[in-house]
Amino acid sequence: MAVKRVLQYGEKSLREPSKEVHKVSKKIQELVQDLLETMYAKNGVGLAAPQIGVNLRVFVIDVSKNDEPLNPMVFINPKIIKKSGATVAQEGCISFPEAYTDVKRYANVMVKALDKHGRPFVLEAKNGELLARAIQHENDHLDGILFIDHCVNRFEADKVLAEHNLPPVDPDLLIEGPESEDK
Ligand code: ZN
Repeated sequence: MAVKRVLQYGEKSLREPSKEVHKVSKKIQELVQDLLETMYAKNGVGLAAPQIGVNLRVFVIDVSKNDEPLNPMVFINPKIIKKSGATVAQEGCISFPEAYTDVKRYANVMVKALDKHGRPFVLEAKNGELLARAIQHENDHLDGILFIDHCVNRFEADKVLAEHNLPPVDPDLLIEGPESEDK
């Protein structure tokens, strides 16, 4: 168990799709520990396995505030089974240090996954809360999708990326966000 190096935007593995976990083995539990330790070390809200170079469908999230106790959440083989609404907010990523841009996401999601013991659970996150956004952001990492692919304004995103010496948005990878505010 250790704090791992976080892959940075531009590194190829971040764009590769991740594979399902077949068994929540001891090795997977160690991966979960590494993800949590690395996420906390980087003060992130979430971290996905491909970001530490492991292309498996695992991510962790902790949306607790500074004055609250830690609340680590583990998602193995997650699937977003319901989504609705739309919301825009600034987003960043540990693989893009200090670069933030507006991203459109679903306001409400329901996700099904396995916990760190391999037990299935279903979780709902609503009203555009940080958890709803984090689930979509981390889940995207498992398919090689990055938050800038959802940017509201590509030119603004490019400007921010350039300021941090990062490559520009790839227009071919842009994803149309959720359309409306409908429920
Ligand atoms: Zn990220």
